[in-house]
Amino acid sequence: MTENVLTGIREQSFGDDPIEVRETDHYTQEYVGGMVDKWDDLIDWERRAAGEGRFFVDQLKARGVRSVLDVATGTGFHSVQLIEAGFETVSADGSPQMLAKAFRNGMDNGGHLLRVVNADWRWLNRDVHGEFDAVICLGNSFTHLFSEHDRRKALAEFYAMLKHDGVLIIDQRNYDALLDGKTGGKSSYYYCGTEVEAVPDHVDDGLARYRYEFPDGSAYHLNMYPLRREYLRGLLHDVGFQRIDTFGDFQENPVEEPDFYIHVAEKT
Ligand code: SAM
Repeated sequence: MTENVLTGIREQSFGDDPIEVRETDHYTQEYVGGMVDKWDDLIDWERRAAGEGRFFVDQLKARGVRSVLDVATGTGFHSVQLIEAGFETVSADGSPQMLAKAFRNGMDNGGHLLRVVNADWRWLNRDVHGEFDAVICLGNSFTHLFSEHDRRKALAEFYAMLKHDGVLIIDQRNYDALLDGKTGGKSSYYYCGTEVEAVPDHVDDGLARYRYEFPDGSAYHLNMYPLRREYLRGLLHDVGFQRIDTFGDFQENPVEEPDFYIHVAEKT
């Protein structure tokens, strides 16, 4: 992480060879400074809400969910939506800068006091207390884990936070299409800010490095692990989820190659 000497703000740093940065811990250096401030331009809350519709609320209500742990709160989009839909929501994230923004967003969007917890998924049960009817991990967040060990550990932690009949909703970009050359990788559902260009700079089996360009000329990057759909479904089975339904862009049978997959994984 580098600090701007004029502003004192910490900015992203990927060192001399950015495509060699393939570490789980690096996310704490990616969601800092300008990237945090710009994130809401990237996702455009109104357009995202219109794109998602009632999908998550309906999935949760259909299972009688009352309490939700949002483990990848980011700037708070889903936490605020869920609070407004009447769910008891706890908002966790490993980036204190994202959580600070989420807290402000909660106040600014309906005067909601978010219950925020700074917690890394790999040690979630140490830092978040209680059991929940549902855990959500949305916005292509799980992609930040760079080792299989970390992925298994995080999923085991999510599993342990759930009540006996709880549900995990976790999504991922359709990396199969990207890795297999079927798409350029631009997304229209999740990252809906029309003024923002989000394009893959580099893709190989172990890394998808995206560049986000903003109208003011600023640019930020995220280094992510390109999860294949069946691989993630397999991990969910392995940690103990009994039933996994996978949707493409919120549909059971998408007609086109979807941008995103959403896995709804039930414990019983
Ligand atoms: N869910 C939000 C959304 O859809 O707008 C945020 C998505 S953002 C792509 C990913 C978030 O996951 C970031 O806020 C980041 O700090 C968090 N994150 C990544 N790896 C994490 C980890 N190991 N533990 C906790 N949070 C993590």
